[in-house]
Amino acid sequence: MNSVQQTMTSFDVMARRAEFPILQREVHGKPLVYLDNAATAQRPQCVIDAVENYYRMHNANVHRGVHTLSNESTDLYEGARETLRAHINAASVREIIFTRGTTESINLVAQSFGRSQIKAGDQILVSHMEHHSNIVPWQLLCEQTGAELVAIPIDEQGALDLAALDELLTERVKLLGLVHISNALGTINPVAEIIAKAKAMGITTLLDGAQALPHLNVDVQALGCDFYCLSGHKMYGPTGIGVLYGREALLDAMPPWQGGGEMIAEVSFEHTVYSELPAKFEAGTPNMAGAVGLGEAARYLQRVGLDQIAAYEHELLEYATQQLQEVKGLRIIGQAPNKASVIAFVIDGTHPHDLGTLIDLEGVAVRTGHHCAMPVTRFFKVPATARASFALYNTFDEVDRLVAAVHKAREMLL
Ligand code: PLP
Repeated sequence: MNSVQQTMTSFDVMARRAEFPILQREVHGKPLVYLDNAATAQRPQCVIDAVENYYRMHNANVHRGVHTLSNESTDLYEGARETLRAHINAASVREIIFTRGTTESINLVAQSFGRSQIKAGDQILVSHMEHHSNIVPWQLLCEQTGAELVAIPIDEQGALDLAALDELLTERVKLLGLVHISNALGTINPVAEIIAKAKAMGITTLLDGAQALPHLNVDVQALGCDFYCLSGHKMYGPTGIGVLYGREALLDAMPPWQGGGEMIAEVSFEHTVYSELPAKFEAGTPNMAGAVGLGEAARYLQRVGLDQIAAYEHELLEYATQQLQEVKGLRIIGQAPNKASVIAFVIDGTHPHDLGTLIDLEGVAVRTGHHCAMPVTRFFKVPATARASFALYNTFDEVDRLVAAVHKAREMLL
């Protein structure tokens, strides 16, 4: 343990660890060190309890029911919407659409806003550091409309090339879709500043917030974005639930993208009247338990305090960066000045998959691969990276376990 680092923060990490039952388990006979948080975070007991309690006590289909359980279920589901509204400071619950996650949120915008507003010859601007879920939905839209997808370049540190961005922001651009925090590099993009520029030119803006919610206070009104997308499972909530935030005037003007129950006010074979927001975009029986669990996850983050989480994780990032840099031949991919607690790395002469497998034998879970951001690995001319991503429950001791496992794996492979 690094006692100097340990005393720098008053963050009670041991109390936090006790809230996550899975952290008690062992892997290969060693205490688990879970450093794959950017792929999915673990769930605290309060989230597990909220989901279990929903199924044990309240489960029934939402909306329009007259019986008690249906009313309770509706109250819990709509209560979770209000919790998420407050969590990201949206102006109204009408702006909070429950989806399966970030991927579905982006596809919704591409197929509803995009197909109705974007035409042949228009441009959609994304960046070179996007997750595939903020690339492929726009490629599909381009195939459907004849629009063109353009990528803002990044530099060798893994930061956005802001000068290039200024040149790319032309009147042809109809939508700017940008990742708030890169899962492959850890870069925190200066999104408020970029959105202000895009807005001044009348460009619609979408932020991919999948990696931001577990680390930052997000205020969609202060950011000024038109759309913001998030996933529950990255922010200590359940899988299969997420949110699309959209400015009410935009969502109101957009056509539905899926048809079915819940999203209609009246149906006949001649004519269908759609529901008001947010139901217009929530066709079918929703993930009620998921929404309830996500609401609890947002409350959990508020209780712990995102500013404290961000400060603690930053100390972990600095310590881990410094320790890993001492491993011979290790290169960190992504060294932007403003980073979240994600470290992707390669070691000369080894393949990341072999590294990851050997590190796992020490009980340490890191992810290896392209992290669904192939343009990034291609840019850095590496086949893949190993990625350690830290959460609020990780410790300096665990960084030491990672670094020891990396040293050992390197010696075995070279
Ligand atoms: N965007 C980023 C930056 C991500 O890291 C991820 C998941 O890794 C996604 C989007 C997709 O999220 P989901 O799979 O929850 O839809």
